Amino acid sequence: MKNENESTGAKYEYGICEYCGQTYFINMPEYETQEKRNAHVTKKCTCPEAETAARIAKQIEKGTKRVQELFGDVAEKYGFEPVQNQSAIETLCNMVSLIVHDVIVSATVQLNGRTRAKISTTSGGKIKIERTETTKAQLKE
Ligand SMILES: [Zn+2]
Repeated sequence: MKNENESTGAKYEYGICEYCGQTYFINMPEYETQEKRNAHVTKKCTCPEAETAARIAKQIEKGTKRVQELFGDVAEKYGFEPVQNQSAIETLCNMVSLIVHDVIVSATVQLNGRTRAKISTTSGGKIKIERTETTKAQLKE
């Protein structure tokens, strides 16, 4: 059986930075379409626009990962119950994106009676995700 990758795998292909138009040659068979090659070199390009876009993408990726850590399936690792509602988690991820793009400064979301999420940025420009659980006890005679 003929391996499709063998014919193209060793060949150098080029990608173009979406911002400055700089051409880079890459030798990576997994970037099989021109769009993927362009996206790959755009991430690596050192022009200011590409660097800004890469920084934004990275911040969103990190923030989204932290949301998943604190509210998703691995929340138990931090002693929290995972939030079952996936759209609630998606909403928090969208807020991360809005904050990174400077659309909003911070967001506080009350997910249910006990769970609150706060998303903000540190003075160093890092995305900060906080989860607060309120436990209230009231005893009556
Ligand atoms: Zn560039």
